[in-house]
Amino acid sequence: MSETRLLYDISRKLNSDLDLDRILSDVLALTVPSVDARDGSIMVFDDAGRVSHQILIRKGLPPHQVREIIGKVLTGGLAGWVVAHRQGAVVSDIKHDERWLLLPDGCLETGSAIAVPLIRRDKVVGVLTLIHPQPNHFNENHLVLLTSIANQAAVAVENARLFRAVQEEQAKLQAILDEAADAILVTDNDGRVLLMNPAARLAFRAGAPLPEGARLQDAVDNEDLLALFQQAMEKGLPQEKEIRLPDGRTLFATATPVRDVGWVAVMQDITHLKKLDKMKSDFVAIVSHDLRSPLQMIYTYTGLIPEAGPINETQREFIEGINHSVEKMSALIRALLDLAKVEAGMDMTMKVCQMDNLIRASLIAPSKQAALKGISIHTEIDSPLPLVAGDPTRLEQVMSNLLGNAIKYTPAGGQITVTAWAADCEVIVEVTDTGIGIAPEDQAHLFEKFFRVRSPQTKDIEGTGLGLAIVKSIIERHGGRVWVRSQPGVGSTFGFALPVTSVL
Ligand code: ADP
Repeated sequence: MSETRLLYDISRKLNSDLDLDRILSDVLALTVPSVDARDGSIMVFDDAGRVSHQILIRKGLPPHQVREIIGKVLTGGLAGWVVAHRQGAVVSDIKHDERWLLLPDGCLETGSAIAVPLIRRDKVVGVLTLIHPQPNHFNENHLVLLTSIANQAAVAVENARLFRAVQEEQAKLQAILDEAADAILVTDNDGRVLLMNPAARLAFRAGAPLPEGARLQDAVDNEDLLALFQQAMEKGLPQEKEIRLPDGRTLFATATPVRDVGWVAVMQDITHLKKLDKMKSDFVAIVSHDLRSPLQMIYTYTGLIPEAGPINETQREFIEGINHSVEKMSALIRALLDLAKVEAGMDMTMKVCQMDNLIRASLIAPSKQAALKGISIHTEIDSPLPLVAGDPTRLEQVMSNLLGNAIKYTPAGGQITVTAWAADCEVIVEVTDTGIGIAPEDQAHLFEKFFRVRSPQTKDIEGTGLGLAIVKSIIERHGGRVWVRSQPGVGSTFGFALPVTSVL
């Protein structure tokens, strides 16, 4: 009866605490008298098997001595034996049991000892050792009782560990939220604010602390943000929006539903990007006007030179040279402007496109160009293909750039094949040529702006290095993706995929 009572008391005491150091001293305080021992020590191990907390019989030792004693008892002593054998042990007479190590200070008056492992989920998480000054003090009954207490203690140790881990995780999360440069705001499904990190408070000038259960519209006075949440909640889908702040900054916010929580909005400061965007637009305006006009003037004047008087053959060649360079610069400016427009999403009119028809239409002009070079074009186009949402002019431009390259980089007598099919909610188009191919190290850079392969084979082929960058930009604006496969000397395949539209 008294043992049951004792176990009950111990269990209650241990389970009411989550502080590991206190739990260990409670275990000792309760077990030492329960088996009439003199004193005891207890240690627990972390996941890596290192001692994380301990109370030794010898008190007040400096850390290096504590480490030394623990090292000894765990390698050659009784504690080590208990951990290795995963079972308790009684040392009836320490003089006749080599598991009891006599430490050099010899200050402990010990005749007998008992030790049990703390086992949780098949893992030894600690060792409890008790001593008595007389030999033959401990018996098998004590071992049974201590094993039961050790089981309770192991549960309490695990709970404390889990609690500490949760606390640490929570502290980490709190620190991340506090330090995050992005503004973060969380609401429940009824639009009540659950969390607002310091960056969000600063952005929306929300006074801290918010009253419990404050509604978003009471906490934040920003129409853009309120509209974003309203839109997201109405649609039940993630939504994005640019949020203008009174201090002139712009945040890019994404509101996403989080199961069992509500809605979380993460807002990134994109003020610098907005500025860059503005600079880019200004640049495009300058390029289009300030560069194009003088070029046009040069072109016009070179055309007028022969009219001003007779010119000789050399002068005619010089004028042709000037005109050719002007053409090249104009082409580059056109491509740059075009890319800037695509990237800015300007002049894009989305329609439902029948890709098989669109591809066939885009083949007309290149076919003539290919025929002139003795290159044949074949098609393997599934018909009808599913519909895609896109700007037909821009998609024809993609085809025209890919076909133009295939013709440019395929020697006379070669072949180009255009294939198109539907797969996994996408329409896939590939343009394959039997041209010069591209070295593997160059393939990764093909879609970068101004990248051109520099090789003896390409040195006489003119281009801007912007064609594929425009292709990529257009396709990505349509929610699609691009790729290339190529083998030098064999040929190349450039492909793109566009999502099938559900709108009819
Ligand atoms: P460019 O105006 O130089 O053709 P692109 O952006 O269209 O610019 O292409 C970039 C580079 O990729 C080209 O300079 C060329 O080296 C390589 N390239 C593109 N298409 C092909 C192809 N079909 N075969 C071989 N090389 C190609």
